[in-house]
This record gives sequence, structure tokens and C-alpha cells, in this order.
Amino acid sequence: MIITIDGPAGSGKSTAAKELAKDLEFDFLDTGAMYRAIGWYALNNSLEQNQELVESLESLELKLDQEKVFINGQDVTGQLRNSAVTEKASLVAIIPQVRECLVKLQREFASGKNIVSEGRDQGTVVFPDADFKFYLTASVKKRAERRLKELSQDEEECCLEEIEKQIRERDNRDSTRDSSPLRIADDAIQIDTSEMVISDVVDKLKNIVRG
Ligand code: C5P
Repeated sequence: MIITIDGPAGSGKSTAAKELAKDLEFDFLDTGAMYRAIGWYALNNSLEQNQELVESLESLELKLDQEKVFINGQDVTGQLRNSAVTEKASLVAIIPQVRECLVKLQREFASGKNIVSEGRDQGTVVFPDADFKFYLTASVKKRAERRLKELSQDEEECCLEEIEKQIRERDNRDSTRDSSPLRIADDAIQIDTSEMVISDVVDKLKNIVRG
């Protein structure tokens, strides 16, 4: 069975997807982490031109193991959530060849498994025949508050207004890009999580899946 959870940054989809997968004993696929890993790779190898990055994709080995992400054998999991990588991930996500490469890996990962897969294009492009498709959303303010909380745990300094601005920019980039823009699949169930706690979101998803 394939369950997709798409939505913008801070909609709660990562936490909800992870919890849902755990409860259902399904595998969990965090596709945002894959785009972040490519962003990390571009930053760390000073690949400023898209063409340079595209050329290196062939020899690049990206592996997901449980919740860990490896690039060419190096565990980069702890380096994927800072602001620089967050920004770069949404820039490399515009490049069609990057998307092609990651979509292929995502389908390979899911093959023969029960999975909960979360991202921006899982229900629309990667798994159009998924058994259940969810689209989570929340107000920009709520999403910025969640992101700020996540950042303060990493002791990175920032303010709410700046995060709101970054979120709007990322939303805009994600939903206006030519290649697989963020959009709601026609058959997705939409849930606004602005006023919900994550455990309620997970319960709601679980009730729908279990019928
Ligand atoms: O979900 P997360 O914030 O970790 O994703 C990082 C970036 O990767 C997003 O801003 C988006 O641009 C990109 N992304 C994507 N398609 C996906 C998952 C993430 O374009 N399926």
C-alpha cells in the first residue's frame, strides 16, 4: 500500500507521516530529505552552476537507511536542516534532471513495500495511483512558528518575520516551478492543520486509512 502526504513547509506533514508510518508499521520516505541532500552536496562542493550539479548526478550515490541519509557513503543526516541547506534544497528542486533522478530513486525505494511517502509531488507525480493521498496545509503564520521552534532547537538565531518571508518565498518557488510544482492532487484529502496538534492529525489520517 502507498500513502502519500504532500503539502508546504511547516504543514506538519513530516511529523505526521513519520508517526503514521510507525503506527501502521510501514516504511517512511522523507523526499524533502533527498532534495536537501542534493542541496547539501551542491553547497559543499561549490557547484554553483546547475549544469555542474547535473553532470555530477550520475556518479552521486544517495542512500536512505531508516531515517539516515548518506551521500557517497557519508552520513549527512545532521547537516540537512539548517537555513542554507533549506534554501538550496528548494533551488535544486527546480532542476528537472534532479527531479528525474530523485523520482526514480523514490519509486525504487517504494517498490514492493508498504510506505508512507511525504513531499510536494508524491500524490501528483511520483505515485499517482497511491491508495491514499493526503494534502496537509496550515496558515503561513502557524507554519513559521513551527519552523522557528525547530530552528531554536538547533540554536540558530532567527525571527518570526524573517521565517515568514522565507516560507512565502519557498511556497512561491515550489508552486510556480515548471517541473512538478506543488499542487493538490484532484483525489487528495485536504486537511488544514493550523489549529490541530500532531497527534490529532495522525489520528485523523489513521482513521481514514483504516476506514
Ligand atoms: O519538505 P522539506 O522542507 O524537507 O523539503 C525541502 C525542499 O525540497 C522543499 O522546499 C521543496 O522545494 C523540495 N521538495 C520538492 N519535492 C519533494 C520534496 C521536497 O520539491 N517531493
